[in-house]
Amino acid sequence: MNRNGLSMKYKRIDKTGDELSILGYGCMRYPRENGRINFEETKKQIRTAINNGVNYFDTAYMYPQSEEVLGKILSNGYREKVKIATKAHILRIKNIEDMKKVFQTQLKRLQTSYIDYYLLHDITLKDWENFKKMGVLSFLENEKRKGRIKNLGFSFHGNINNFKKILDGYDWDMTLIQYNYIDENYQVGEEGLEYASSKNVGIMIMEPLRGGMLINKLSKESKKLIEDFPIKKSPAEWALRWLWNDERIDVVISGMSSQEDIMENVSIASEVKPNSLNESELELINKLKKNFKDNVAVDCTGCGYCLPCPSGVDIPLSFSYYNDKKIFKRRIYYSVFYLLKTVENRSYASLCVKCGVCEKKCPQNIPIMKELDNVKSNLETWYYKLLYKTFKIVERIR
Ligand code: SF4
Ligand code: SF4
Repeated sequence: MNRNGLSMKYKRIDKTGDELSILGYGCMRYPRENGRINFEETKKQIRTAINNGVNYFDTAYMYPQSEEVLGKILSNGYREKVKIATKAHILRIKNIEDMKKVFQTQLKRLQTSYIDYYLLHDITLKDWENFKKMGVLSFLENEKRKGRIKNLGFSFHGNINNFKKILDGYDWDMTLIQYNYIDENYQVGEEGLEYASSKNVGIMIMEPLRGGMLINKLSKESKKLIEDFPIKKSPAEWALRWLWNDERIDVVISGMSSQEDIMENVSIASEVKPNSLNESELELINKLKKNFKDNVAVDCTGCGYCLPCPSGVDIPLSFSYYNDKKIFKRRIYYSVFYLLKTVENRSYASLCVKCGVCEKKCPQNIPIMKELDNVKSNLETWYYKLLYKTFKIVERIR
């Protein structure tokens, strides 16, 4: 128990022998100020997490500056207290020389001589075949023998059939999958979770709050369901408790960006027990799930993998305002905000020329072009156009 009276729960991963905190720290979205990572705040938060028992940190070569910042923060005695998971994406690896360079860069950025969990990032079945052909798997196995990689795994956003094929194709140590109460039947879903569990690999969970949607995009009805429930908990707590109720899950990775988020999650992770939610609590979550599905327009997590768009469309932002408009039913209000955010830097939906580049990169398989048409018809209406013209006139006068 620490001085806050909290005692983080740990889980032993049979395949790797590690005792990992059930709460992992996601390093994709560090706190920012004026668009730049706020290093001092990030350092404070990461050290708070470690001092409260978090020992699993998930980063990736592709997350801008994430590895460098983590490496710098973990220097000065913190590296040995934690396990680092990082990833290599096929977008940066076209041959084995690229793989070697990426790996060397990662060790340097992270200021470490070894990686605890090394993952092939967001792979498809085709990527997996290509990685093998390029000799990437042999390279990683060799690094594992040398001790510079401790465990091998992969992260995945595709369908269940391909997930099973990749899992069956190698003796993996772990996998990282998207899972939360609205994704029980989405991507690999519950079936994938069960399959991974039957293979006895470590199971790490990403997007436990669906990129914040299970907090920020709850409808009035969902909020009321939570407020009226006799046991008082926040939307985040219900979502996390639902995951930790499942004993097949090892680590839930949360992208925490404030001290309050960290302490709330640490506190929940200190008291949860598998199979402890009762019938009425599970029923509440079922109702939230149904209400969410009925209300959200686009299942976008805001991950940004679809960017950059060659025409400059801010795809996640467009979907965020479109969802807000549908959930909160304030069309003019969200049109104005959408306008203010997208006109000045020319990033609105109607700039889309339907090249299709973004759709190939979206892990959620969102029909982006079709949904951007919906954004246009819902948010770029006559008052949008009027406001747009006014905005341009004001701009000229200034
Ligand atoms: S389809 Fe449209 S939104 Fe997607 S990358 Fe092409 S122009 Fe951008
Ligand atoms: S559209 Fe897809 S890739 Fe783009 S931010 Fe949303 S979920 Fe991510």
